[in-house]
Amino acid sequence: MKNKIALEEHFATEEYLQDVKRFFIREGADVWEKAKNTICDITGGERLEKMDEAGIEKSILSLSSPTIQAICNTEDAIEAAKAINEYTANQIAPRRDRFEAFAALPTQSPEAAARELERCVKEYDFKGALINAYCNVDDPTKPVFLDEPQYEPFWAKAAELGTPIYIHPRPVPQAVKDIMFGDNHFWMETAAWGWHANLGTQILRLVSSGIFDKYTNLQIVIGHMGELLPMFLWRITNRCNTHKRDCLAELPINQYFQRNISITTSGNCSTPALMCAMMEMSTDRIMFSTDYPYETMKQASDWFDNIPFSDIDKEKMGRTNAAELFHIDLK
Ligand code: MN
Repeated sequence: MKNKIALEEHFATEEYLQDVKRFFIREGADVWEKAKNTICDITGGERLEKMDEAGIEKSILSLSSPTIQAICNTEDAIEAAKAINEYTANQIAPRRDRFEAFAALPTQSPEAAARELERCVKEYDFKGALINAYCNVDDPTKPVFLDEPQYEPFWAKAAELGTPIYIHPRPVPQAVKDIMFGDNHFWMETAAWGWHANLGTQILRLVSSGIFDKYTNLQIVIGHMGELLPMFLWRITNRCNTHKRDCLAELPINQYFQRNISITTSGNCSTPALMCAMMEMSTDRIMFSTDYPYETMKQASDWFDNIPFSDIDKEKMGRTNAAELFHIDLK
């Protein structure tokens, strides 16, 4: 497939390299040396070359995790988000035929995040925002979650603007790390399991808060084939229907996965996992992505282009679902 749109595609800048260095440094200094050039490249050629090889017409770019969300000082986070969004807009300006962007948002202040989202959508035509899950406010060990009541004005703004919000993993909160993973299970704490299990829980918290009942058109996107949730959706829904307890959501949980939540295939090239997601959510709610540069565009595309599904479904997941959700004009 030649003209795919991919939407979990990351970059970093020199000032945020320390944030991403720890994902590579245990692999050796040479790996890091190569990776840092790759992740900082936006329109310099390497990324575009790989997009061409993989049949990706457009990438929606986002600043790598956790960056803004990990800045403890709220004013610093607000300034940093503004600066990075301006940088991103300038970088992609000459190549808007190939690149779109998600805003980075200072969620330390829900009101400032709402303002910055609106500014980026109106000034730069960004397609939404990507938030790296919970943030820290003053205390680096204490997570502040997106379902907490102070975020209502932010979700109201996203719904008003009609801009989807991509919610992406970040390293697990310190207490979770200490209790569940310690120092001997780093591989499991990170992108193999821990980030996704933790983000899946944060997404369920958001659903449980009732925010999608208040803003019924609000759209969020999650990656990695749905952060473990599609596989467990029947049981989540069934248990919640049977014992609703403190869940504030009005509808059966699985219905939000057909109305408010979309997923991408980023970093999870599994046909059985995709089939599960298709059966729970339908192909209308699934979009191709690669998670570059943490994964390769080639692996994602070789897999996606060869899945034995109909061209109609592949066209939707590879391109038209994203174009529709993010209001991207197709040639
Ligand atoms: Mn990612």
